[in-house]
Amino acid sequence: MDRFPLTRAAALERLERFVPRAGSAYAARRNLVDPQGNHANVSRLSAALRRRLIGEDEVVQSVLAAHRLDKCEKFLAEVFWRTYWKGWLEQRPGVWSAYLADVSAFHPGTMIAEAMAGRTGIDAFDHWARELAATGYLHNWARMQVASIWIFTLGLPWQLGAQWFLEKLVDADPASNTLSWRWVAGLHTPGKTYLADADRIAAMTGGRFRPEGLARVARTPEAASPLPRTPLRTAIALDPALPTLVLLTPEDCSLETVLPDLDVRAVVVADDLAANEWDRMALDDAALRAAAHWQCPVGVANPVAFAALHGCRQVVTGFAPVGPVAAALDALRSRLAANGMVLAEHQRTWDRLCWPHCGKGFFNLKSEIPRLLDQLRPMRSPLSVCLP
Ligand SMILES: Cc1cc2nc3c(=O)[nH]c(=O)nc-3n(C[C@H](O)[C@H](O)[C@H](O)COP(=O)(O)OP(=O)(O)OC[C@H]3O[C@@H](n4cnc5c(N)ncnc54)[C@H](O)[C@@H]3O)c2cc1C
Repeated sequence: MDRFPLTRAAALERLERFVPRAGSAYAARRNLVDPQGNHANVSRLSAALRRRLIGEDEVVQSVLAAHRLDKCEKFLAEVFWRTYWKGWLEQRPGVWSAYLADVSAFHPGTMIAEAMAGRTGIDAFDHWARELAATGYLHNWARMQVASIWIFTLGLPWQLGAQWFLEKLVDADPASNTLSWRWVAGLHTPGKTYLADADRIAAMTGGRFRPEGLARVARTPEAASPLPRTPLRTAIALDPALPTLVLLTPEDCSLETVLPDLDVRAVVVADDLAANEWDRMALDDAALRAAAHWQCPVGVANPVAFAALHGCRQVVTGFAPVGPVAAALDALRSRLAANGMVLAEHQRTWDRLCWPHCGKGFFNLKSEIPRLLDQLRPMRSPLSVCLP
């Protein structure tokens, strides 16, 4: 469990240790996959970033404090890939609902169960399927091979592969996961598929695997016509004058580091929105920090009743991007309104500035990175000041 930091302190410590390796070492070695599962070439910060135990701005600024931009641009680009997927899905929420509908329409057969159990006879795939089950993590390059073999060699529906990952990954994310599977399948950039290759797998795993019988042709699965881009959702802004209940969800587990001064009367933990024990660990940690920061009661309770109990007029939470938490907050918003309260969402500056550039291809966002970094630089001090 400690290999994937799920408290803010552990994430900051991981970041501090990783920073020296985020420059040329990362650029040179990031795609090498250790078959023993020792993934020291990469940060393994995704579980913490996914839950915002730590912010993208903190990671990027700490890395930039130690490396020249041209030496760490590979690492920064990966962090921006996460932002890109989030911002892209925000502008095509129908892709998520269509994926959910497809998943519930399929009936997984024996072949899918055998693949998920790592019993296909394809050595690398079986190894990584078992690693995923045992640890909840796969190296990015291994994820690409597994998804490609699932779709093109085994001929299985990408949606069920994405669902398998979503249920097992410690960093499971509606945007990064669904859209990466679509990217491998050739559905994100029309005509561009990702085909796994036995020699490349041998090269990246130090010769440990050289799977036989891999597909030599990638045929993009049939898909509905592309959904139009929709405007980014605007959240209700918070009102610093109102007595406030802070709602902690797995979407933002370090709100105390980003919220402005508010009249916070109580904090409630949305334990029912935790998808797994990893979410619960992060929420427990968030609750401890929130209690220390706002010096107020913290509970696991119905937010409407808890807000009323503490005389709150607004509930403030972190902005929930497309996914199950956003869907649950839609229902909560109506219940609060019926009780004369508003649900305000705090959108981080990072998302507000970056997402408008994420509606087309990644390279649109990439070309904006230097300008965005300039705008984002004053947001926080580098890591040395953040560490507890
Ligand atoms: C099929 C498939 C499914 C994926 N599903 C998820 C998912 O559910 N959740 C998730 O967070 N990532 C997902 N990824 C992206 C990527 O594999 C992981 O973010 C990365 O492996 C996490 O390990 P790390 O923290 O050591 O990354 P590092 O290499 O240290 O990168 C630093 C950070 O950048 C971000 N990042 C790195 N690579 C990518 C990428 N290709 N796409 C988006 N963000 C990236 C992550 O937040 C990561 O923590 C998926 C990729 C593929 C190919």
